[in-house]
Amino acid sequence: MGPGHPECPQRLDAITDHLRATGLDLALAFHEAPAATPAQLERAHSTAYTTELCFELQRLHDEGATHALDPDTIAGPHTLAAALHAAGAAVAATDEVIAGRAGTAFCAVRPPGHHATRDAAMGFCFFNNVAVAARHALDVHGLQRVAIIDFDVHHGNGTEDIVAGDERVLMCSIFQHPLYPYSGAVPKGTNMVNVPIAPYARGPAVRETVAAMWLPALEAFRPQMLFVSAGFDAHREDELGQLGLVEADYAWITQQLVDVAGRHAQGRIVSCLEGGYALGALARSVAAHLRVLAGLA
Ligand SMILES: [Zn+2]
Repeated sequence: MGPGHPECPQRLDAITDHLRATGLDLALAFHEAPAATPAQLERAHSTAYTTELCFELQRLHDEGATHALDPDTIAGPHTLAAALHAAGAAVAATDEVIAGRAGTAFCAVRPPGHHATRDAAMGFCFFNNVAVAARHALDVHGLQRVAIIDFDVHHGNGTEDIVAGDERVLMCSIFQHPLYPYSGAVPKGTNMVNVPIAPYARGPAVRETVAAMWLPALEAFRPQMLFVSAGFDAHREDELGQLGLVEADYAWITQQLVDVAGRHAQGRIVSCLEGGYALGALARSVAAHLRVLAGLA
């Protein structure tokens, strides 16, 4: 996205380095991400948006140019490949988990996706990786109920835009409010459990909120698979938000999701990286998330 932008390539390097340094990489299986196809993208995005964005991103690639789709969201020559493979990772992870070749999967992807709406790129996001994967599970694999959980510090407005009113999906989110993109306080559908959190809230308050608001809704919904928008920018070291989560809080939240998945979804969870911009905190928080997802905690 250009020099000085928080959504930088070093985010994935920090995660990879930390997994190697801690030896956690030895307990995990790694897969390359295929590119998503137009048909896969169009389960979450309009055909017009998908076609026009791919055309524009291909032009940037061919001309070696950059273009700001919004003031924060700058596309460059390699954005098309990155965005297609990020969404493709989520689809491939869904296939692996549904086939039983993996119990759970984490997609270490950039760009993130949860601000991408059905018809617009915004907030560092181009394609909504989690929504593409959830619709793939529903429309291709024939699942009837899936949950999307979003614990990024920012409201997943794009995911809400895509899945609100789709009663096959229950979306549970927490997000700092008020904060970019200043939405979410009024849910757009009865299938949304939107929980705004006041600035400077810390782990204990957030855990209480998750236990009171998400868990009963998830139990009642009995999802057959869980998808996670795993943003780690609610960490207290992250300067894009003002929440106070730490690694242990991410492990606790993940454990609640593993428990729900164990009861209703054959343990099936696909988690996709969203935000998280304090590199050390991001890497440690992803590791805490992965230890629980992999049953190593
Ligand atoms: Zn975020």
